[in-house]
Amino acid sequence: MADGTTKEYDLIICTIPVLSLIGLLKTQEGLSIIPHAAMNFRSDILVYLKVHFDQAAEGQCIYIYSDLIKITRITNFNEFKPDESDTFNILLVEIWCDKTDLIWNYGDSDLMLFLEQEIKKTNLYINLNVIDHTIKKVADAFQIPDLDLEDSRTKLLDQLVGFRNLYITGRIASLHFNYGMENAIEDGIILAEEITKKYRTDLLPSD
Ligand SMILES: Cc1cc2nc3c(=O)[nH]c(=O)nc-3n(C[C@H](O)[C@H](O)[C@H](O)COP(=O)(O)OP(=O)(O)OC[C@H]3O[C@@H](n4cnc5c(N)ncnc54)[C@H](O)[C@@H]3O)c2cc1C
Repeated sequence: MADGTTKEYDLIICTIPVLSLIGLLKTQEGLSIIPHAAMNFRSDILVYLKVHFDQAAEGQCIYIYSDLIKITRITNFNEFKPDESDTFNILLVEIWCDKTDLIWNYGDSDLMLFLEQEIKKTNLYINLNVIDHTIKKVADAFQIPDLDLEDSRTKLLDQLVGFRNLYITGRIASLHFNYGMENAIEDGIILAEEITKKYRTDLLPSD
């Protein structure tokens, strides 16, 4: 455990990033395990905006593919219920970046100034007025689907085959960039069935 104590379990189900898991494990001799490969991630700055505007481009979720604009994606949550009239809109503006990028380390006021300039560049809104905002930063949010990903993942998972009671599931067990919450839930159910069949068949329905 993080405080140095040890707890024993019959089996472990892991959903944390595989590199973090390897960092937590020790060999039988008590030595740290050196990862056999690296994995690269993009981080995400999420800025939730409470806004008014006179007009907005239609769409729940708009991806911006431009080298000239740092915004990656804008989600308009009000568009999930387009027929309801609202007194304000909630937008989520995301900037996907590296932790080494200048913008990742911007303070809140600099970030907001920068963001408003970037939103203007998109031409998606007419007379946008930001009333309130909340900023969240998620480090290493998205695994980069680079050409080495499959190979790196195999090398890292191979390092864990000796841990017979260790099960790995969830987003880290998948190569798909579009792995969503429904996939994580489905994988959890499938793994629970697999484990039940192996260890507790008495819990399964008799038919
Ligand atoms: C910005 C963003 C937006 C997304 N939007 C959508 C969406 O709109 N719809 C959708 O379906 N999916 C979306 N996803 C994907 C979705 O969140 C994932 O597919 C899903 O959460 C995967 O579930 P999981 O349990 O495998 O992993 P996670 O939900 O990532 O859970 C892993 C957990 O491990 C914890 N953890 C990490 N390291 C350690 C450690 N060392 N020790 C202890 N705990 C640790 C993390 O804090 C986290 O709680 C989005 C993901 C991101 C990052």
